[in-house]
Amino acid sequence: MKAPSFAYAKPRSLADAFDLLERPGARILAGGQSLVPSLNMRLASPELLVDIGGLASLAQISAGKAGLRIGALVTHARMERSGEVAKHVPLLAEAARHVAHPAIRNRGTLGGSLALADPAAEYPAVALALEATIVLQSRNGERRVAASAFFKGLFETDVREGELVAAAEFPPAERSVFLELARRHGDYAIIGLAGVAGPSGRRIAYLGAGATPVLASHASREKSLEQAQAALEKDLQPPADLYHSAATKLHLAKVLLSRAWNTLSTSH
Ligand SMILES: Cc1cc2nc3c(=O)[nH]c(=O)nc-3n(C[C@H](O)[C@H](O)[C@H](O)COP(=O)(O)OP(=O)(O)OC[C@H]3O[C@@H](n4cnc5c(N)ncnc54)[C@H](O)[C@@H]3O)c2cc1C
Repeated sequence: MKAPSFAYAKPRSLADAFDLLERPGARILAGGQSLVPSLNMRLASPELLVDIGGLASLAQISAGKAGLRIGALVTHARMERSGEVAKHVPLLAEAARHVAHPAIRNRGTLGGSLALADPAAEYPAVALALEATIVLQSRNGERRVAASAFFKGLFETDVREGELVAAAEFPPAERSVFLELARRHGDYAIIGLAGVAGPSGRRIAYLGAGATPVLASHASREKSLEQAQAALEKDLQPPADLYHSAATKLHLAKVLLSRAWNTLSTSH
């Protein structure tokens, strides 16, 4: 199918972008890797696409005291290859390798993925495990939201009218691990795990396990793998999908936990 007709604008500044976003039926276009297919399938029919791809201020990576700030327009491919990301947030570099295929990774962006909030996407779970901060910008300035409050439901986030995702800030972790099971490499995950550990304990988040990324808070606190696997039953009620029952997904979540456990339990 072909996309319905729409107007297109490419603002040169954030101020212009905020003006355009006030028009009725306006929708942000970033890498277009989720939005364009949904236009072609006529699942979305915006009147105006506001292409933020020219806003260089949203495409920066910078290291600071609180961690690594990654602009919304940084692509999956850049995250996969960036020395800064590998050094400060290796979990994100690992996760990026699981996102789709190279052609999609060349155009798809961090901000697009966070704003879309697909429950099977990699970055939302990474953001939750690391307690990242999502930085939102609007005409009124900046608003900072913890990842745990940002993902509110199925494809639903805390982004308000007139706001865009400008960046996300990822704190460092002493140890981290990203694991995913998919039918083929590059497919959306059946289930995946993003885990971090350090002096303040463990945080293990799952993707593909609910309407949003899910923090396995009970399992994260347990001392042994057996206890953690049992506790996972309190944390996760994964929905069945076309190919896997809820029980299979829970089983696979426990398998991933066993593979991640050594990294998350041993100081190096
Ligand atoms: C075949 C295929 C396989 C894929 N597999 C995976 C996968 O395994 N894992 C995965 O995570 N993703 C996967 N994706 C999706 C891909 O990662 C997208 O790049 C990503 O979800 C959206 O990023 P984008 O920059 O392309 O956003 P767009 O498609 O441009 O936009 C997506 C949505 O987010 C909004 N948006 C975009 N940027 C912002 C912003 N800065 N602020 C506010 N709203 C914004 C748009 O208005 C739109 O609603 C796949 C896509 C395809 C086509």
